[in-house]
Amino acid sequence: MDMTKAPATAPPRTVALRQFIGGQWEEGTGPLLASTNPALDGEVVAAGAQATADDVDRAMAAARAAARGWAQTPMHERGAVLLRAAACIDANARDWGLELAREEGKTLAEGIGEVSRAAQILRYFGNEGDRPAGEVFSSPRRGERILVTRKPLGVIGVVTPFNFPIAIPAWKIAPALVFGNTVVWKPASTVPLLAMRLAEALQDAGLPDGALNLLIGPGALGTRIVEHPDLDGLTFTGSTGVGRELSRKAAGRGVPVQAEMGGKNAAIVLADADLDLAVEQVVFGAFRSTGQKCTATSRLILTEPIADEFLGRLLARLKDWRVGDPTDPTVHMGPLVSGSAAGGIRTGIRTALSQGAQLVYGGAEAGRDDGAAMPAGDSFLAPTVLEVPEGPASAANTAWRDEFFGPVLTVRRAADAQEAFRLANESDFGLSCALFTQDITRVLSAMDDLDVGILHVNSESAGADPHVPFGGAKKSGFGPKEQGGAAKEFFTHTTTVYLTGGIPG
Ligand code: NAD
Repeated sequence: MDMTKAPATAPPRTVALRQFIGGQWEEGTGPLLASTNPALDGEVVAAGAQATADDVDRAMAAARAAARGWAQTPMHERGAVLLRAAACIDANARDWGLELAREEGKTLAEGIGEVSRAAQILRYFGNEGDRPAGEVFSSPRRGERILVTRKPLGVIGVVTPFNFPIAIPAWKIAPALVFGNTVVWKPASTVPLLAMRLAEALQDAGLPDGALNLLIGPGALGTRIVEHPDLDGLTFTGSTGVGRELSRKAAGRGVPVQAEMGGKNAAIVLADADLDLAVEQVVFGAFRSTGQKCTATSRLILTEPIADEFLGRLLARLKDWRVGDPTDPTVHMGPLVSGSAAGGIRTGIRTALSQGAQLVYGGAEAGRDDGAAMPAGDSFLAPTVLEVPEGPASAANTAWRDEFFGPVLTVRRAADAQEAFRLANESDFGLSCALFTQDITRVLSAMDDLDVGILHVNSESAGADPHVPFGGAKKSGFGPKEQGGAAKEFFTHTTTVYLTGGIPG
């Protein structure tokens, strides 16, 4: 395998896409797929043939064949593979970060940061062997102890989205592997190159053949994995519609499911908030990664006393927010992942305006007539702020209700903190929320009242550390949370052992 990567300054080349099955890199036999740079029309980042249903079957068989040997490998040895892979990822962070920026559209700094985050996640789980592996209980019977031990589930299907092409797969694949499972992974077909990089790092680190299998291709491959009789567990991240459908299929056959899905995350700014801090954090939460984070801030709830002041400062800050080629270090925000993703959001903005939303900044057509203000290309969208005035139809406005998954922030005003919390809960989703206040009693109420899986107090709604649980409530999540100790709950099952040497003398 060629681990030599072109330096960041070399002219971009098209990488040949390969499938990874049973420890072999091979050409797919399905239709051709090209992943393209959304910032530069016509630049092909990677291309090759997609996997087929037959490849899924071979990958599942390879994962099954590898399962027993890998499960019997000591946890410390499994962890050592992850630690070596982490070192390889760190060594390639700049080059792979550039590839990520070219393939997905986030800025180079964010791309490098994401690759480094993947290494950090592998390191966290690589050290799992040093943590407790079960529990011991006392017994009501003399001379007995009760132990709870953990075993892998078996073959895990991993289906991942486009927006974090290496970090999200890492936070699923690393715990799956370290707890002794084998994996069949289908990434989003828009970002196959970064998937290949993660598989290369694990192979280079000594992962046995068949422990990880990578299939590049359309959603139908994900369905094939989920319907496969050899599947022992499914971990999915992506949109709520797809996640619910795959969860239904897997759970209907008794296969454990973990699904992290959509979000419509609110930032709440109370009257006593530090406004400079809140403006900066709301801008980061809403517009970094072009708003394509499941935890991005897409709703902003302003309490009346500070609403006008806050909006004034927000708009002043956005005037410096540069949109352009994500590999240009002076750019704050790259394109959407594709022209069709941006087109869907343009339609959503127009619908929201027709339903009574008011344009505060940006908009579907912003900068389109002014080449100096906005780069050319269908994938680019200006940072956009809409306000939905209070009225009987506010809750149903599409910009308030639906996940756009782009750089669109929808504002509503609340009389006080209580009303703000009610508006924040006025969503089918419940992933993340940011609360800006200096008042500890409001923070304590928010901890009880807000129906979210993640609450940030005085920081942006996005962000996740590998050692703590990650996931959402309501339509945002299904099954056990991810990362930290929570990952063990999903990727293992327990055996309760009643242990005695016989009748004590
Ligand atoms: P998506 O649902 O379109 O695709 C996710 C994965 O499912 C991809 O691999 C895709 O190929 C596959 N897929 C699509 N249709 C399928 C089908 N019918 N059957 C089987 N597999 C199918 O999501 P996306 O556009 O890649 O990512 C954006 C979505 O992911 C947003 O909704 C975002 O909120 C969500 N997301 C959630 C989290 C979280 O942790 N909660 C994190 C990141 C992204």
